[in-house]
Amino acid sequence: MSTYKLVHRPENSGGTIVRVGNVEIGGGEFVVAAGPCAIESREQILETAALVTAAGARLLRGGAFKPRTSPYSFQGLGLKGLELLEEAGVATDTPTVTEVLTPEDIPAVAQSADALQVGARNMQNFALLKALGSAEKPVLLKRGLSSTIEEFLLAAEYIIAHGNPNVVLCERGIRTFETATRNTLDLGAVALLKNITHLPVFVDPSHGTGRRELVAPMARAAAAAGADGLIIEVHPNPDQALCDGPQSLTPPQFAGLMSSLRALLPALGRTVAAPQKRSRPVTFATGA
Ligand code: PEP
Ligand code: MN
Repeated sequence: MSTYKLVHRPENSGGTIVRVGNVEIGGGEFVVAAGPCAIESREQILETAALVTAAGARLLRGGAFKPRTSPYSFQGLGLKGLELLEEAGVATDTPTVTEVLTPEDIPAVAQSADALQVGARNMQNFALLKALGSAEKPVLLKRGLSSTIEEFLLAAEYIIAHGNPNVVLCERGIRTFETATRNTLDLGAVALLKNITHLPVFVDPSHGTGRRELVAPMARAAAAAGADGLIIEVHPNPDQALCDGPQSLTPPQFAGLMSSLRALLPALGRTVAAPQKRSRPVTFATGA
């Protein structure tokens, strides 16, 4: 019997579709999530949300609880950030994904966001994984910094074994001897995962490379390797970003990536969302 009883893909069987709000991950559509590493202000998240969704992002990302390496780095806006992300999701009619750091935070995050992200640093936080088993929302599970594929799959197995079948795996680069890139994006893992598990697989070329100029080529390579979607960091002014500016695309760079994916994906038998033509501009009430 497979070590991964629940995530294992029996031969010739299809993949699982995970629904985040009204968006299906793992079907024919290649799904792109985009937004800032961290929610910094109301203006920042609302502006980014309007621009990335206009370019074809189907999910909005933004960190409210940030797992920073240094305790002196910006830790995120916490509950206020969650509120702002929810507002931006509603304003753009786009489901949201945000990280949950602790089991105690799950109720608030699950109440406010459409999908719960487990960060690389928490991939083997077994108390968190077990607690996510009873969450009512889907989970985007990122691969640990130095995790094997087996450890990654067993982390997903924890969530599913504890009652939540809606897991999307996310390859986000691993630590290797190489230091020219922030991490080594393991696209071989993507092709392998698509063979051995029925779960959908996302790729994060932002953390996977740490370098803005490498994000678009690795995003296209991820699509070619069989990924079901991407999660991309976008900031209206990356030089001023409080977190991960060097790997964040500007909104026009993101729009350029989306248009190149639109050219590429049909050759791979997938579709990707068209740029959104809004009947009215997204406007946000001022104040608050
Ligand atoms: C993030 O998505 O901003 C993040 C912290 O990612 P990771 O956990 O993959 O480092
Ligand atoms: Mn980040």
